[in-house]
Amino acid sequence: MPIGGSGDQTGNARRRWVIGSAWPYIYAVPHLGNLIGSVLSADVFARYLRLRGDDVVFVSGSDEHGTPIEVEALQLGVKPRELTDRMHEIVKRLFELWEISFDNYTRTESPVHREFVKEFFMKLYNNGYVFTKEDEVPYCPKDRIYLPDRFIIGTCPYCGYDKARGDQCENCGRLLEPRLLINPRCAICGSKPIWVKTRHWYLDLTKLEDRVRKYVEENTALPENAKQMSLGMLKEGLRPRAITRDNKWGIEAPFPGANDKTIYVWFEAVLGYVSATIEYFRNKGNEDEWRKYWFNPDTRVVFFVGKDNIPFHVILLPAMLIASGDHT
Ligand SMILES: [Zn+2]
Ligand SMILES: [Zn+2]
Repeated sequence: MPIGGSGDQTGNARRRWVIGSAWPYIYAVPHLGNLIGSVLSADVFARYLRLRGDDVVFVSGSDEHGTPIEVEALQLGVKPRELTDRMHEIVKRLFELWEISFDNYTRTESPVHREFVKEFFMKLYNNGYVFTKEDEVPYCPKDRIYLPDRFIIGTCPYCGYDKARGDQCENCGRLLEPRLLINPRCAICGSKPIWVKTRHWYLDLTKLEDRVRKYVEENTALPENAKQMSLGMLKEGLRPRAITRDNKWGIEAPFPGANDKTIYVWFEAVLGYVSATIEYFRNKGNEDEWRKYWFNPDTRVVFFVGKDNIPFHVILLPAMLIASGDHT
């Protein structure tokens, strides 16, 4: 579904567009459903605009950081980067075979993306939108990794199911937290996790709530379901969210004192639309051209994403762009 966009869409003047399709998380080869859902519709739209004579940059890339890939690599006995090098080639080749008209299909390990993400988060930090807080998180001493919620299993305190996950019990459907599980175990090796204190850096979304609400309310190009879902979330209030993780496979958090942290994959992957545009023009030898696409109110930015991606594209990405101070 297309979401985002700004301004009206009438008239026949040549227009400038950034078209993005959701970045596939590459621990699985995308099946036809993913293709039709976001990539194919974005491709059709990009082709249509080019035929009209509009100026289009169509971008996407492989989303390759985070714990699920780290754990998969661990299980296969390879380094995460070896796994994603292989998967990225497969996915990229598939899109070539399908003749998807990407101007740039890149990856989150691209040096341009990694640099952009670090600089971008330092802007949020310097602008006062990042704060730090201490938490206790589960850690597997055997695998030597911090365990995200769904990598802890144990007995559900509500129904007694003995393979409930730290985020949810599949048997009774109740939402859980790792702390609630009876007899918690590491989902990878079965050992008992220990609880360790760790510090995380948070994005202060509460501070950005009013401006994000204004953006959502005034955006006439948003489909109704995306708008209603986002307004519903805004009505409940935006709470600060941790932007760092303790896993090693990712982009190093740039904040002072955060040497051993990485940026939570969700927060960096959505910035890929911007970094992929930068990379595209840099490769063409036109270093600053990308600014016209991201800082010019006449440019339309449209994303083709699945329903579960709505909060990240309609709330988090705009919130981060506003917090960077480059967008109003
Ligand atoms: Zn249960
Ligand atoms: Zn373990």
